[in-house]
Amino acid sequence: MKLSSFAYFAGFGIKTVLFGGKNPILGTVILTDKCNLSCRHCSVNNITAVIHPYQQIMDEMQMLYRMGVRILFFCGGETFLWRDSGKNLRDLVAEARRMGFLIVNVVTNGTFPLDLPEADLILLSLDGDRERHNAIRGDTYDIIMENIRNAASDNICLYMAINQINKGAVRDVCLMARDTKNIRAVSFNFHTPYPDTRELALSREEKAACCQVIREMMRENAPVFNLKSAFPYLINNSFPTPCRQCVVVENGKVSTCGRCIEVEGLCRQCGYFFVAEYTLLFRGNIKIILEMLRTYLKYI
Ligand code: SF4
Ligand code: SF4
Repeated sequence: MKLSSFAYFAGFGIKTVLFGGKNPILGTVILTDKCNLSCRHCSVNNITAVIHPYQQIMDEMQMLYRMGVRILFFCGGETFLWRDSGKNLRDLVAEARRMGFLIVNVVTNGTFPLDLPEADLILLSLDGDRERHNAIRGDTYDIIMENIRNAASDNICLYMAINQINKGAVRDVCLMARDTKNIRAVSFNFHTPYPDTRELALSREEKAACCQVIREMMRENAPVFNLKSAFPYLINNSFPTPCRQCVVVENGKVSTCGRCIEVEGLCRQCGYFFVAEYTLLFRGNIKIILEMLRTYLKYI
């Protein structure tokens, strides 16, 4: 991370903690909900299958920038399916950089060639070893691993949503992140139980067991891009929600935190590690602040 970006984020953090600010810093633009997969745990794919137009995406990016967002995520559906007016995902990342976003990340299912060296991180969903990943995401493990091997740069961060199917594969994904070329880190979430996928949620004890494995893997030098100080809050769902410093925009509609905010009662069962990490950070939790400094400077 550039020193100027670090100084900007430090200033934002200090203002937010000291004065209880509610301005956003992290924003997500949903490019489309169209997806080539239909994962077992997913509640958001192909509801409209609309690819949002280039000019609309640009307007949404500018709106987020004006709101104060400096960490931008592009998300789907599947982001690599996005194309419009002769532009593709790579053009959007370049535009975001030109606009002044300080960190630009892309979320993908990894089934398309990974030619995005301009992104700070490509968050690529890998949900276990071959057997468990394929049980959740269809027969995609081998093509994803081939795309990782052939990626244009080493900016890949694996992204695993832990649920009832893959809870025993946390170690496999950590080792994959540690020992595979082009993978810089791995980041976790617990399954957030949308009404149609409640059966995949983990119990408190199962979450605690997964966090214990992640801690052990951190000790074995797995590049985990999460904060272990947040684990007790994630296990007990005792972190504040929603995250006021995060916004998402989909087809012109802005929501605080995530598009899931409208699902009744879901925030109380939120499994998103970033929500715990950010809300605790902006409440001034000292352990989280120190660990976040170390972790972010290491991986971005
Ligand atoms: S790749 Fe992502 S958007 Fe597509 S079905 Fe799977 S979880 Fe949903
Ligand atoms: S469930 Fe609530 S707290 Fe969690 S990501 Fe969605 S909106 Fe945010």
